[in-house]
Formats: sequence, C-alpha cells, structure tokens
Amino acid sequence: MNIDRTIDNFFKLVKIDSPTGEEERIKAFIADWFTNCGLAIKEDLYGNLYVRISGKKDTEPVFFCAHMDTVEPGRNIKPKINGQYIVSGGPTILGADNKATIACIFEAVLILREKKLDHRPLEIIFTRSEEIGNYGAVNFDYSLLKSKKGFCFDSSNPVGTIVTASPHYERFDLSLIGRAAHASRHSEAINALLILKDLLGTIKIGKLDEDTIFNVGVVNGGKVRNTIPGEITVKGEIRSLSQKKLSANKFFFEENIKKVIKQYKARYEIKFVKENPGYNFAGSRTTRYIDEVKKKITEAGLQAKTVVTWGVSDANIFNNRGLFCLNMGDGSEFSHSENERMKITEMENLVKLMLVLVSG
Ligand SMILES: [Zn+2]
Repeated sequence: MNIDRTIDNFFKLVKIDSPTGEEERIKAFIADWFTNCGLAIKEDLYGNLYVRISGKKDTEPVFFCAHMDTVEPGRNIKPKINGQYIVSGGPTILGADNKATIACIFEAVLILREKKLDHRPLEIIFTRSEEIGNYGAVNFDYSLLKSKKGFCFDSSNPVGTIVTASPHYERFDLSLIGRAAHASRHSEAINALLILKDLLGTIKIGKLDEDTIFNVGVVNGGKVRNTIPGEITVKGEIRSLSQKKLSANKFFFEENIKKVIKQYKARYEIKFVKENPGYNFAGSRTTRYIDEVKKKITEAGLQAKTVVTWGVSDANIFNNRGLFCLNMGDGSEFSHSENERMKITEMENLVKLMLVLVSG
C-alpha cells in the first residue's frame, strides 16, 4: 500500500469541515474522487452516497460503511504528524472518526484496481448525520443494497477489534409540574424541586445492572431566586444491552414518578424516544460467522479481539434492518476530543483488514 497517498487523502478529508448537517462539501469531494476513478457513485434522497464495485462472480457481496460527518469542535482542522501519530494541530478534534476509515477505503479501492485483485462485489456506503442519531443509516435507500453482510469501521479501538454488542438506547424528556409561588407563601406552592428530590430517592442513577445504564444529563428549573420553582425538566437516557431490561427499567421509572406525583397532587409529562436499536451477538448462532471474521483478521496479521460497547453507530441501524453488520475498530484514539489521534501504522492495518474482508 501507499501510506503517503493514504495520509495525503486523510489530510484532504479532515481539512474539509463537515460537522453534522454540513456534509455538502465532503460529499462532493468523495463523489468526485470516485468519479475520477471511473466508478459510478449514487446519492440517495437523504444525501448518503453509495458505490458498487463489481467483483468475482458467485461470491457473496459485502458492504463497507463510513460516516461523513464529525462532531464539534470540527472546523478548520489542521492535521499534523507528530512522531507515530497524526494529531490535530489546533483546538479541534482530528476527524479520524470517521475520516481515517474513508481514507483507508480510498486506498483499498485503489489497491484492488491497481493490482487487479480478485475480490467479492463491494458496496460502499457513506452516511450523513451519524453523530446525532445515525439518521443517514435510518434514511438510507436500502433498495440500492445487495449485500446482506457488511462492516462499519467506526469504533475507537485497535484495528482487529470486533464490537459484538451495542446497547438499545432511549432518551426521555420529563417535566415535573407543580405550582410556583413566592418564597414566603409556600402553602400556595407545589415545589417541583421537592418532587424531584423525592423522585431521586426512589430510583438509582448510573449503572443499574451489568447491562443497563441510566443517566440524567440535564436538569432545568426555576425562574427567579425568591420564587418556589413550579416546574422542573429533566433530560436523561437509558441504554441497555437487553431490550427487556430497558423496558423493565423504563416502566419502573415511570411508576415511581406516578407515586411521587400523586403525593404532591402535581402532574408530569414524559416523552420517551427510542433513538437506537441495540444488538448482541454474544453467544448467539452468529458465533460461526464472527469466528470467520476473526480468522480473516489473523490472516491480515492483526490481533482479533471482541468487545462490548456502550456506544452506538450506524451498525445498530443496519442490524435492526435485518442485515448483519459488524462494527470494527478503526484505530482512532480519544475520538470526540481535542486529543484525538490516529497512529499511522493503524491506517496501514485498516487497509490490510479491508483487503482481506473483501477477498473471495
Ligand atoms: Zn464515528
């Protein structure tokens, strides 16, 4: 492989600002790149990109996926090489998540064509808006896709890592509604802060069991110092590797809200939104396929490892759509932070891995 060419493409990609919702320029760059290679690229109605590269007859097609958007601070990124790593030269993320994968897909495609390697049919999907809820994958035009199996390379783990489980995820917005009154007239008030205090006494926050996490991220309430707050809003989330446990905890949470609310003669409103379906391949009949993938990883000279993650990715959506998608380590480190970095040898590893995954 040509590592200089890969790094060069990576630098070009990260220098194009593409915070979620602003993917037009990166999309044009990727589309031009494939067009210049003589490959047809399609855009679906949502703005995801799709490329199909034909391969050996009678072999199972496979898809690769990377997302085009980044988190903030992700503008005016100045990548630079620092020893064995590529780092961000300014107060921004680097964008290795997920542009290292895009650069490595470019390199793998070039190698397949230059060396005229035999390979399976390869479909490549570049999604939009992954970072805020995998909306690109949700809205992808699945009629384009022929593969049943595929790979995202979007886990901040060493190349060779396979994510075997990712949580179901629901967020909620809760309003505890009492009645505001001047601080001196507490008999007229229904203090929403006390409702919240009692509610917190009935529930656990943090890790509920080995599979489930409950978090409250935002609490808002009150208007002025000398007024008893009449309403408090709470934004939180439940994530669990088990849908059953998630549902049970959600039910338990709402039952407790009802009990507390009743004591105060207050009311509440809650809205749960299922953001992401989870998956769990551990111990299932998919083990054989995962073993095959592990063998390929070893074939590429890498160390195969499986992990369970608390994060979600486009793979959650693909799996929920009945495809079999493994999210793989992309070699990036400290993603979503200004310390994000990418080891250069991991880019080489990622290209090697892609090549064995697409081999016949
Ligand atoms: Zn990512």
